[in-house]
Amino acid sequence: MNTKEDVLKIGELWNEPVQFKVTVIKDGNCRAGHKTGEPFEFTWNTPEGLCGESFVGMYPILHSLRVMGDMRELGSLHRNVRVYNCPSRVIQFQIEATYRCNLCGKGLPIEDNEIIEHTLENPETQLYVRVCSNCFEQHKDKTLVW
Ligand SMILES: [Zn+2]
Repeated sequence: MNTKEDVLKIGELWNEPVQFKVTVIKDGNCRAGHKTGEPFEFTWNTPEGLCGESFVGMYPILHSLRVMGDMRELGSLHRNVRVYNCPSRVIQFQIEATYRCNLCGKGLPIEDNEIIEHTLENPETQLYVRVCSNCFEQHKDKTLVW
């Protein structure tokens, strides 16, 4: 029987673990009016003002970054950065992902292209969170519930 102290309700603490910063790095004749330097920062919801076709086109990259895909496999210098050309091959975007602790929201550092992270999981309920070292030490013996 679990006591209250043994249970970790992750739904109460949830922070989106992946943040995106998409920056226009090359502009041109663009129906969405994108200009070099224009930034878009977002986590789960779509960013207001970003060209819909470009968002759909870059979505596979966003999804890959969300599941910790390594962009070096696609020729990038950094695991968390990728350049994307819009479907009309006019606008160029730089997509950068940063990673946060699922529980406290603290940034997870990237050292030598490795994300410094720990995981907590409950195989019975298939709950899984990526956390910082502090949260890992604090919660490692608890049972995860939503
Ligand atoms: Zn944390």
